Formats: sequence, structure tokens, C-alpha cells
Amino acid sequence: MNVVGWTISSVAFIKAYVSPSHRDDCKFSRSSIYDFHMGIELNPRLGKDFDLKLFTNGHLGMMIWTLIDFSNMAFQYQTYGRIDKSLILVTILHILYVGDFYVNEAWYLSTIDIAHDHYGFYLCWGSLVFLPVVYTSQAQYLGMHPTSPSDAYLAITFGTALLGYAMFRAANDQKGYARRLGNQARIWGKPAEFIHASYLTLDGKARASLLLCSGWWGWSRHANYVGDLIFSYSLCAVVGSTKLVVWTYAMFVTAVLAHRCLRDEKRMSAKYGAAWDEYCRRVPWRFVPGIL
Ligand code: NDP
Repeated sequence: MNVVGWTISSVAFIKAYVSPSHRDDCKFSRSSIYDFHMGIELNPRLGKDFDLKLFTNGHLGMMIWTLIDFSNMAFQYQTYGRIDKSLILVTILHILYVGDFYVNEAWYLSTIDIAHDHYGFYLCWGSLVFLPVVYTSQAQYLGMHPTSPSDAYLAITFGTALLGYAMFRAANDQKGYARRLGNQARIWGKPAEFIHASYLTLDGKARASLLLCSGWWGWSRHANYVGDLIFSYSLCAVVGSTKLVVWTYAMFVTAVLAHRCLRDEKRMSAKYGAAWDEYCRRVPWRFVPGIL
């Protein structure tokens, strides 16, 4: 995967100079090292339809999590002659997260990864090498060191992970649904509430957008991240170990989402100006009301 990650990152870097898919979407800094790392093209394609970002981030990067989990199950069985419940539950949670991605693939196209982050080593190598290794650290640990937490403990941690997942999915769905239906949308039994925002595109045209401020998006400005974090910490807790390596996934997701929250809010403030300030006034909490 390292070879593939470095090779595709290099291809993407050279392609941006030689034959960019959309010249206007290229972003150059003064440093080639920075450009290699953060990417130049937004959505590079090979030919007309083969989208490099979707292929590496979405397809290879996501699929490999479950393959690594199955390998660790096989390893545990081969070494210890059994597969522990904790490893089965961790694998089920990964399958749920990855399966969700495939069922909701169209939604992924509107996320920051696809819509805003340029394609370079950070996304390519990160999805192919770093994410599969770090995100499956619980299954890798369990493959080598089986744990046997009590059934009650497993039920609580697994149940909490499912609740986190439900919140993550519901918040993400509400945003897409409300923007699609506009004033026709109903959330939690009531008409959806919006702030009407506008922004200028590079061609100087004013465009309209909607900021949802009811449902999960009225509860906090990043409820989808909160659901993801509950899911991540509960998933690590299923292992039943305090070893640092088991928790690296949740700690890394915390750092990624905290950083995303700050950079996305900066971008939103620049894009929507007063409408964004109004949203922050109506929904003052970033993550959990009363805390943060
Ligand atoms: P979001 O799905 O939250 O998308 C942010 C965008 O949504 C903003 O840029 C803005 O786009 C729009 N938006 C923000 N607030 C509102 C609002 N109130 N009403 C309507 N639109 C709004 O962020 P991400 O793309 O970062 O994350 C997508 C999902 O993926 C999340 O659930 C996250 O947890 C998960 N994720 C998981 C990671 C992991 O490693 N486990 C890493 C990254 C993401 P616009 O410009 O269109 O207004």
C-alpha cells in the first residue's frame, strides 16, 4: 500500500502540471513540497470517468478496513483456536461504518474530503496507508491479544457505538434532506428552520444557500462529528483494554474532527459572512450544548 500510495501521489502531482482535469480548480503554493503533500488538483481524473480521489479514498481506503479485520479474525482463530466476541463486535461496527459509506456514496460527494480538499499525498497516502493501519488498530490488537470482557460490558459499549452511529447518520441525512427539499422539509415533526445565506463564486455571480438551524443542526453546529466521536470511543472501548494502541483510532479522529471544525468554520465565515454569524448566534455550541 505504501508503494501504491507514493506512486499515485506522484502521478497526481505530475498530472496537475502536465494534464490537469480542470485547470481552474488547481491550487499552487510557492512550495512544491507543500503542493505534493496537500495536493494541486481538486478532483483529478484519469480519462473522462476514473476519479482518483474517489477510487483511493472511497474504494481502496474503505474496503481495506474490513479485509484487515477479517485477516485478524483468521489470525486469532489460527493462533488461539477461537474468535472472541470482542473481535466479532469490532468487525461488525467497522462493516457498519464502511457499509454506510457504500449505501450513502452520493452523500460522500458533498463532504469536505471531496468538495474542498485538494488531492495529494495527505489524502492519497493517508487513505491507503495511515487510515487502514490506525483505524483497525483495535482488530489488530485483538488478533494478537484476545480479551474476554463480560457480556454486559460488551452490550453497553456496542449499544453506545450503535447510538453514536445513529446520531452520525441522522445528522448527516438531515442536512442533505433539508437542503434538497428547502421549505418543504420537516424535521422532528416540525417545518425545518433555515437561515437564507448567499455567497459569491469566482465568476462574480451571487448564489443562494440554506443553513439549517433546526433538528441536529439546531442542537449544535457539528452534531455529526459528535455522533462519529461517540461511535469511535465506544468502538475502542469494545476491546476492553486500556493499552494506548487500542485507543489511537479515537484519539486520531478527535484530532482530525477538531481541526476540521476550525478550518470549516473559518471557510464558512468567509463564504457566508453575516449569515454565518447569525447561525453562530442562533446555535452557539460547536459540539455539545452547555459544554463546548
Ligand atoms: P460536514 O458533513 O459537516 O460538511 C460541512 C459542510 O456542510 C460545510 O462546509 C457546509 O458546506 C455545510 N454546512 C455546515 N453547516 C451547515 C448547516 N447548518 N446547514 C446546511 N449546511 C451546512 O463535514 P465533513 O465533510 O467534514 O464530514 C462528513 C462526515 O464524515 C461527518 O459525519 C464526519 O464525522 C465524517 N468524517 C469522519 C472522519 C473520520 O476519520 N472518521 C474524517 C472526516 C469526516 P457548504 O459550503 O455547502 O455550505
